[in-house]
Amino acid sequence: MTVMSAGTGPMGAGTGDTDRTGATATATAGATAAAGATAAAGATAGAGAVGAGEAFGAAVRALRSAADAGAPVLLLAHVNPDGDSLGSAIALGLALRRLGARPRVSFDAEPFVVPRTLRFLPGQDLLVAPGDLDGFDAAAALVVTLDVGSEERLGRLSRRLAGTQSLVVDHHASNTLFGEVNFVDPEAASTSVLVTRIIDALGAELDRDIAAAVYTGLVTDTGSFRFAATTPAVHELAARLLATGIRHDQICRTLWDTHRFGYLKLLGQALERARLEPEFDLIWTWCTESDLRLAGIGYDEIEAVIDTVRTVSEAEVALVCKQDGGIWKLSVRSKGAVDVGALCTALGGGGHRFAAGVSSSESLAATMDRFREELVHAPRLSR
Ligand code: 5GP
Ligand code: MN
Repeated sequence: MTVMSAGTGPMGAGTGDTDRTGATATATAGATAAAGATAAAGATAGAGAVGAGEAFGAAVRALRSAADAGAPVLLLAHVNPDGDSLGSAIALGLALRRLGARPRVSFDAEPFVVPRTLRFLPGQDLLVAPGDLDGFDAAAALVVTLDVGSEERLGRLSRRLAGTQSLVVDHHASNTLFGEVNFVDPEAASTSVLVTRIIDALGAELDRDIAAAVYTGLVTDTGSFRFAATTPAVHELAARLLATGIRHDQICRTLWDTHRFGYLKLLGQALERARLEPEFDLIWTWCTESDLRLAGIGYDEIEAVIDTVRTVSEAEVALVCKQDGGIWKLSVRSKGAVDVGALCTALGGGGHRFAAGVSSSESLAATMDRFREELVHAPRLSR
């Protein structure tokens, strides 16, 4: 894995809309740890806002003892990791290593390859493939999941949660609270905001490399500070991160404004076949594995198709079905009137109110029938 400082290896696409305005902030502790504590986290995201709950305290204590003991800590991102999940894991990993712990970062992927867009992230030497984790003292480790809404989102790595202390750090309202300690704050603009609170509480310096990873999460999940989750505190945190000297211009070009030529061709085709269904207030399209082969690009390069599709003014809900390993992965976005997080949760997936997803092993036609059926019943929100 190449190791580069922030912003030196731009490639790739951006990610989707994550707007959580109005979500209830509930940092919740699971039943087995933190003495059943349920507590509100800091209501504001970003610099200076410290999550005040029991779960936050329990999270910091667990990480501090791991650091003091020089213990292994396994940091897990979700399958097909995005900038927030991998950025958060790397940011926390870099801080923990500086504090004396033995952190490793992993996620389920076969082959184990970092998405093109995220190869610029520092700290890639922390990465270990799932198959190589047995050499790592995982049984004794504290396992921390970052931006992971449910166990299934860990893929095969979910088995690493068994028999070890687990800490969930996340901002999905749909989080199933599957850890022993669940530091979950749906009001946070990104999981990396929560990681910053933890790093500050641990007393680790937020240096340039950590800042680049935190910024990647923040800019990914706020859609470059466009979505409603972008509070004054988010901008304050961004200012603090920029003050470390990160090349935010290069990071953003990498995340949003860099594609291979084949992507343009694939995008053209996806837009050409897009279907507007006014009766469902829906715009949707699809990308097959054969489209990817013909364009000569990978699944990790088509994340941004939804960002173009969702701009259509005639539809409230936008959907891109992406075929991967014979399975359809749905990226769903709403402009604010439909809770697509609830919609995808009902279909067996999850996400945020205005940006969510789900997988389907059925045919495209059957998947779409099921989606439309559920869309009709999806909760409507007042704007
Ligand atoms: P994206 O469309 O960018 O892949 O995902 C949008 C949001 O939905 C992200 O917050 C992501 O974590 C969540 N999400 C996407 N697919 C799934 C899924 O299959 N299950 C769950 N629980 N969440 C998903
Ligand atoms: Mn996130």
